[in-house]
Amino acid sequence: MDSSQNCHSLFIGLIAQLLYKTLPADKACQLLNDLLSGLDQWMTNSTQNQAQLHANIQALKEHELPESVSLSLLGNVLPTVQTLLSDTDTLRSQISQTSEEVRLLKDELERTTTIAKTDELTNIPNRRGFNEIVNTLSQEAQKHQSSFAMILLDLDHFKEVNDTFGHLIGDSVLRYIARLLHKETKGQDSIARFGGEEFAVLLPGTGYDAALRVAHNIRNKVSARPLEIKSSHQTLKLTLSAGVAMYQLGEELDQLIDRADRCLYKAKNGGRNRV
Ligand code: GH3
Ligand code: MG
Ligand code: MG
Repeated sequence: MDSSQNCHSLFIGLIAQLLYKTLPADKACQLLNDLLSGLDQWMTNSTQNQAQLHANIQALKEHELPESVSLSLLGNVLPTVQTLLSDTDTLRSQISQTSEEVRLLKDELERTTTIAKTDELTNIPNRRGFNEIVNTLSQEAQKHQSSFAMILLDLDHFKEVNDTFGHLIGDSVLRYIARLLHKETKGQDSIARFGGEEFAVLLPGTGYDAALRVAHNIRNKVSARPLEIKSSHQTLKLTLSAGVAMYQLGEELDQLIDRADRCLYKAKNGGRNRV
């Protein structure tokens, strides 16, 4: 199989796997990246080899050669080498064009993958993004026999916020919470919009007590700062409730989410604005 057939079957295989969703998009991006660096490498090598060949021919021409060798060189070898060099030039320009197309394809794939994992309103990971993060965290935890904490947060009486101030203000409140979560978490922590007015915080390398403190801190920050609604000169007293759960080695992620959810439910039943 020649290299163009190779590329073609690789490409068809890639698209087929993507269509049937057996190949995650980030894996596909990785494959396209590998393909691009392979093509780049070939371009560099072929340029260097061509230059070397030119230099060698030049050096050969400067030598006194027996007539028979000289004739064979001029009559057979050099024309063949010339054809080879010009074929390589053509191939290089085709590969350069193909590389550009692959690069565009990869950029587009990366862009759509990011969009698919991001919540449009708050610009933080959505449920799909959350799933990916939590999967990675559980794999890491298995590998290092460690754990991570999950905080599930739900805004209290948010339906009333919408009813009183309107849906647009409700949307701004959700964006405000996303910004606050971003500010109140650090380096390796992740935040996500879990659902409508529910958010999740994932804290790797964090124990239960420390995670509780993070949850309390977020709850305090939200309840301590009533929001000014400029358009209607009103203030909005916002609170949230939270549930905290630790990942247990070997468990299904649904079990972890279910535990955090049950803790959240307790916080709601206990009177809201609590962890
Ligand atoms: P609870 O304290 O029990 O959580 O009460 P709640 O009103 O917050 O809960 P409920 O589940 O009854 O209502 C959730 C509300 O969140 C209703 C829904 O319209 C609102 N909501 C969900 N997503 C969005 C959104 O994207 N924008 C806005 N503005 N509101 C949203
Ligand atoms: Mg809710
Ligand atoms: Mg709510």
